[in-house]
Amino acid sequence: MSYVQQVMEQAIKRSPNEPEFHQALKEVLESLEPVIAKHPEYEKAGILERLVEPERVIMFRVPWVDDKGNVQVNRGFRVQFNSAIGPYKGGLRLHPSVNLGIIKFLGFEQIFKNSLTGLPIGGGKGGSDFDPKGKSDNEIMKFCQSFMTELCKHIGADTDVPAGDIGVGGREIGYMFGQYKRVRNLFEGVLTGKGLTYGGSLVRTEATGYGLVYLMDEAIKDIGKSFKGATVVISGSGNVSIYAAEKAMQLGANVVALSDSNGYIYDKNGIDLKTVKQLKEIERRRIKDYLEFHPKAEYKEGFEGIWTIPCDIALPCATQNELNEESAKALVANKCFAVGEGANMPSTPEAVKVFHANKIIFAPGKAANAGGVATSALEMSQNSMRYSWTFEEVDAKLKDIMVNIYRNASSAAKEYGCEGNLVVGANIAGFLKVANTMLAHGV
Ligand code: GLU
Repeated sequence: MSYVQQVMEQAIKRSPNEPEFHQALKEVLESLEPVIAKHPEYEKAGILERLVEPERVIMFRVPWVDDKGNVQVNRGFRVQFNSAIGPYKGGLRLHPSVNLGIIKFLGFEQIFKNSLTGLPIGGGKGGSDFDPKGKSDNEIMKFCQSFMTELCKHIGADTDVPAGDIGVGGREIGYMFGQYKRVRNLFEGVLTGKGLTYGGSLVRTEATGYGLVYLMDEAIKDIGKSFKGATVVISGSGNVSIYAAEKAMQLGANVVALSDSNGYIYDKNGIDLKTVKQLKEIERRRIKDYLEFHPKAEYKEGFEGIWTIPCDIALPCATQNELNEESAKALVANKCFAVGEGANMPSTPEAVKVFHANKIIFAPGKAANAGGVATSALEMSQNSMRYSWTFEEVDAKLKDIMVNIYRNASSAAKEYGCEGNLVVGANIAGFLKVANTMLAHGV
């Protein structure tokens, strides 16, 4: 058994019942085999054993009072996975599915993603099994305040800087920042995705979606294609999906579908993004309600059917494992030529195999959706300077970062004999910077 396999087995044994974490471990570690073979110094220094074990895991009680006066209790998490190259950085997810294994998978992915941005940020992730769906604004505030009352003891602008993820947007970051400031009496860049009046960065809202399209645009250029005139299907209808759609449309694409966890809409002449923004960002309604404004569009229950819609480019932007082998085969049958992951690990390992076997350009989340966290790092820079850049300045930096991520992942894949495999390339390029830093720091 190889060193890599040994580490993987041990890590899986040590953390049973964490299938998403095992899936991410497997994907990353297997692709590192050629690097480990070439550099025995990593094995000697136990780099992989150290990498798969979080530096710190914080689990805590989050009690709050609902609108009926009942006490509710949720569980909060922050996994501080790796701080070799900078303060822990990564989002907070609020969703009933959240558990330690899911936060560990996300935190582990974040190490490599953050490294790929080229900026000085380590990997972390957090969240809670709190379900924001159907909660009043007051209940969201109560939950966020209670969550931060504990979390604020463990984070700081130079220690750990959380941000948004599923269920956490500008409103939640606002309530959490307010509570951090109240309790710690510190006004610092401890969270990113902040409002523009208190240290937020222009482009942060758009960054993940825009970045995804910037990276995909660069990748498809290599095969002589572009977004101009392309039909694009995007799953999800949150922040990532909305701004991926906006940028794809700006580049001349026809975006025909969006979804939420209940179902998807298909508007073959092109989605009206203004309606989607009103419904999702302002009124917090379901994607189905799009039909009230565009009765000619179609709505279908279930989120998987979206991948049977014919398209040139597919952008899964909803959640992990939302695109399986069957969906991948449907995309191939419909002549889709590129898939870019806006969400974290949305394609199952079997789906990724189908993409590779059919020579579809496939950009994994840790490269393709890194624009969000990269712009968070730019927000941290602006906070440290107590200064703000213009929209154009941040957008230009984001574009540069995404183009570089693509080039670095693509050349790492080539260097290690896997030309065109961006999964292997992203893992290797992200790993090298972290591993070499861990070597430099000693055990
Ligand atoms: N949640 C995003 C991600 O998965 C952004 C994290 C951040 O901005 O820190 O990368």
